[in-house]
Amino acid sequence: MNYWNPYLETMAQEELKRIELSYFRNIFSHAKAHSALYREKLRDIHPNDLRTLEDIKKIPLTEKEEMRKYQEMEPFPYGGLLAGDISDVTTFRQTSGTTGKPIYVPETYESWQWRIEAWCHILYMAGFRPRHRIFLPFGYNVYVAFWEAHYASEKLGCEVIPGGALDTKGRIHKIMEIRANGMMNTPTYGLHIAEEAKKMGIDPGTLGIERMLCAGEPMPSATRTRLEELYHCHVFDHIGGTEPCAWAGMCEAKDGLHIIEPFFLVEILDRETLQKEVAEGEIGVAVVTPLGRRSFPLVRFNTKDLVVKGKTSCSCGRTTQKIREVVGRTDDLRKVRGVLFSPKTVEEVIRKEFQEVEEFEIIVERRGLMDVISLRAEVQPQLPVGLIEGTKARLAESLKIATNLSFNVIIEPPGSLPRYTLKAKRFKDLREG
Ligand SMILES: [Zn+2]
Repeated sequence: MNYWNPYLETMAQEELKRIELSYFRNIFSHAKAHSALYREKLRDIHPNDLRTLEDIKKIPLTEKEEMRKYQEMEPFPYGGLLAGDISDVTTFRQTSGTTGKPIYVPETYESWQWRIEAWCHILYMAGFRPRHRIFLPFGYNVYVAFWEAHYASEKLGCEVIPGGALDTKGRIHKIMEIRANGMMNTPTYGLHIAEEAKKMGIDPGTLGIERMLCAGEPMPSATRTRLEELYHCHVFDHIGGTEPCAWAGMCEAKDGLHIIEPFFLVEILDRETLQKEVAEGEIGVAVVTPLGRRSFPLVRFNTKDLVVKGKTSCSCGRTTQKIREVVGRTDDLRKVRGVLFSPKTVEEVIRKEFQEVEEFEIIVERRGLMDVISLRAEVQPQLPVGLIEGTKARLAESLKIATNLSFNVIIEPPGSLPRYTLKAKRFKDLREG
């Protein structure tokens, strides 16, 4: 069996869209009737105004900033984001708060199960099956993704090993001790485990990991390939967030991501106007409406994820809309000396051409009237000193070609840059604030 839900995953696009419109109207009415945010926001729009998927473009997008404001209301701590009775809430989770005050997410048991089911699609598509024993190398804390991954793995019939409260060495020992053959992690932490294993004299390719699902950061294909080479395993990507849930995942064809339809209505909109749907092959902002979750409804949530729209066909046989590539976050796109710059391009260059670079950081600052962009790079300690200058020069040259910007490259001593387990923060724009 190739599909978690053969009926939905191979349904004709027109039929999927018909179902999504009907679900959308349902969640729209529910949100408007039960949450203070949407009571006000959708005041002037009636469900009968929404006859086609084109009609929903009249509805204003939901922005994270306004959600923070409504959260301040009663009932504590969810305020106007909650749709329903607070006594029905069984699951508290929250966003990481890296861009401001966290958003608190209230889910009822039913809504939480809906999230788990969406995740089952992601995992099954990435080839996870009951024979897998999956190691999750994190303490999950109040963050949603790894809890969802945990419960969905169990629903699939996999064994799950929670790897919190251990350091990286301890986790490597645990993977070997219980012979884990699956893992879910951020790309950064996957690289870090491999680096630590090598220091312990262990080839990460012998750890026995067959399949890895990455989460948490946009992953350039060069990073995915690097992880596959290091672990001798298959590595899959997916995209999602705390508010919308995981909404697209990679199948075994490893050619873009499938949107989990009809769980989500995903619009990919022109990034200047945020109104028109882009054509296949174009970059747009993903606007997501989760269609079956009622306690924490979102209507046209602006994810600020930039993606390239893909096809609706795939060698795997699924008929769902694909995303060709995740470009990054609109927040991370900056103008540096008048050039539009994405930090993901730097990562792509480093993972592809510079295996001797273990960690890096990009800093943009203003000196006088000039923007200065620097790359701080840490190279492998065993790299002969004589080769360091060569790496430095090659880095400057490759980055210039890839980004059209001249980087000030600084080689840092081993171990001096921070290592990340969850969301990596390798890009710092010091021109702000
Ligand atoms: Zn596919």
